[in-house]
Amino acid sequence: MRPKVVVGNWKLNGSVAGNEALLKALLGGIPRNGTAGCAVCVPYPYLAQARALLEGSPIAWGSQDCSRHEKGAFTGDVSAAMIAEFGARYSLVGHSERRTLFGDTDAIVVEKYGRAKRAGLTPIFCVGETLQEREAGSTEAVLARQVDALLAGGAQQLEGGVVAYEPVWAIGTGKTATTQQAQDAHDFIRRRVAAKDAKVAAQLPILYGGSVKAANAAELFAMADVDGGLVGGASLSAPSFIQIVQAAHKG
Ligand code: PEP
Repeated sequence: MRPKVVVGNWKLNGSVAGNEALLKALLGGIPRNGTAGCAVCVPYPYLAQARALLEGSPIAWGSQDCSRHEKGAFTGDVSAAMIAEFGARYSLVGHSERRTLFGDTDAIVVEKYGRAKRAGLTPIFCVGETLQEREAGSTEAVLARQVDALLAGGAQQLEGGVVAYEPVWAIGTGKTATTQQAQDAHDFIRRRVAAKDAKVAAQLPILYGGSVKAANAAELFAMADVDGGLVGGASLSAPSFIQIVQAAHKG
């Protein structure tokens, strides 16, 4: 049995005062003895605040990206090792907003994944197709290309990592994939990994992301290959995020 995990992605949102209120509300509502893992991926400047408020709690924290470089003349970049220094457990890599708005190619995402892993973080490797790609019938081809970029370095790359399937058309749109669409994509990803290493595939957490909310979390998390969620908008509301985590505890 793979434990479920729910990860919030705050994106470019937050303020010192607002984060404190949100995190304190989460601490008040997320049980210590739940079966599911839970984390928030915050903007870099708030990693220290997340650590100060969440250390010793059931809520882990992480970043939304990391540099593909270790160090040097890369103004504005933040390295995985720097993120790890703030006690972070996770780093997203390859979120569709980074891929489409900031030019992260498959090769760059794989470099970032490796940096995160070597720094002791758990990388959350985001993949997913656009609406155009789904409508053209190329969802599986896109997922295969994205996952194969990582598998090219060996299936052991995915040992201790997490995959998030996020259909781009479902992110921030209010349109959620059907439970069957999510299950089919997750099953495809798991089989793709299993073709290289069945044991790694069986243990790999695959999260679903794309307009997850309190109203649809339980049915998504009930699918055999959906091991939790990556949650954007709904992670900014404590009651919503708490209900999603509760759905994962039950699922
Ligand atoms: C995300 O940011 O990864 C995401 C899935 O956003 P939302 O839940 O708002 O669709």
